Amino acid sequence: MYWNEKAETMPREEMRRIQGELLRGAVKRAYERVAPYRAKMKQTGVEPGDINTLEDIEKLPFTDKADLRDAYPYGMFAVGMDEVIRIHASSGTTGKQTVVGYTRKDIEIWNECMARCMTMAGVTRGDIVQVAYGYGLFTGGLGGHYGAEYIGAATVPASTGNTKRQLQILEDFGSTVLLCTPSYAMLLGDAVREAGIKGKLKLKSGIHGAEPWTEGMRRELEDRLGYKAYDIYGLSEISGPGVSCDCEAAAGLHVQEDHFYPEIVDAHTGKQVKDGMPGELVFTCLTKEALPLIRYNTRDICTLRKDKCACGRTLARMGKITGRTDDMLIIRGINVFPSQVESVLLGIAEVSPHYLLVVDRKNNLDTLEVRVELREGFPFDEVRRVEELERRIGKEINSTLSISADIRISPIGSVERSEGKAKRVLDLRKNL
Ligand SMILES: [Zn+2]
Repeated sequence: MYWNEKAETMPREEMRRIQGELLRGAVKRAYERVAPYRAKMKQTGVEPGDINTLEDIEKLPFTDKADLRDAYPYGMFAVGMDEVIRIHASSGTTGKQTVVGYTRKDIEIWNECMARCMTMAGVTRGDIVQVAYGYGLFTGGLGGHYGAEYIGAATVPASTGNTKRQLQILEDFGSTVLLCTPSYAMLLGDAVREAGIKGKLKLKSGIHGAEPWTEGMRRELEDRLGYKAYDIYGLSEISGPGVSCDCEAAAGLHVQEDHFYPEIVDAHTGKQVKDGMPGELVFTCLTKEALPLIRYNTRDICTLRKDKCACGRTLARMGKITGRTDDMLIIRGINVFPSQVESVLLGIAEVSPHYLLVVDRKNNLDTLEVRVELREGFPFDEVRRVEELERRIGKEINSTLSISADIRISPIGSVERSEGKAKRVLDLRKNL
């Protein structure tokens, strides 16, 4: 079942033709209306007239979060405020927020993309959609909300927090679809298990994004909540959630590539890599009016494939995000992504997927401590068994990541829970 069959099952040559046309227009528009981008193009020695085919995109300079920060708040906008009907912002790790704007058409396209994604996850009219993303400047809440309404589903703006009330809504309102971050879904899953109400829920789909998560986490969530879990991807700079999503084949996230043109580039050279090879994910907004970012480097690391999916869609597919070049920890010279540690932990039955990595430096040597919780039923007071388990996890991490880690197992509930994006890393070296 498709939301927009024509766009989602278009032959590749037809898609490329449309993308090429849209690209020419988008570059011309950005050059004429966005002064910082025009300056970048001039510096690179490229003009809108040099962009004729999709291959020419490699001539164009990249943009990233720093460009938005430098142009704070509206310097990258291509329209006047009289055309902007919505403003969102995302908090960065340093300093000022990244501010994004939308015209009426931008919001309509966002709704369309969300509707396509949610349809991939089985949402239809008649569904009851509990939106447990945060409402506010963050795009998750309103993005999910308008997408669900656009489809015609009964939309419940639960927002985040108040786990007891979330459970009550799940049970009493008969929610069939849950939208929230995967870490918050895990928290709700634990609470459902504790309350013993899994059998009473009507959930069929969970649509989870805004932070990277693993296949192991998917199985955990499906087990706890008795539904099918879908990965949705997006970022406010490009539009918000709905840039791509899993279909029922769960074989990669279909990109709405008639609106957002994806590339994977080598993090060092900036050159496009072959289909299927990992690299940094870059998007060009083909249809955005207010904030038409060209070659925006998300710093998310994944792969891209363009063959037809079992679901019938021809839209390119992203692999799961395996990390961010920003999030990559370098510990004693070794590249470590939190998702790699998560995969190891999910393979160990005695611990739960609540964890925190603490990185520090002692005697000029980086140290990694992995704090992880025991699963229900495992006795925390049996010191010898806990120590044996810590050694086993340490060995697993060492053989997978080639790094020694100090494992600290703690009782259930001791690792801080998150209602939004989970905090997985505490890097104390930054304070040194
Ligand atoms: Zn598919």
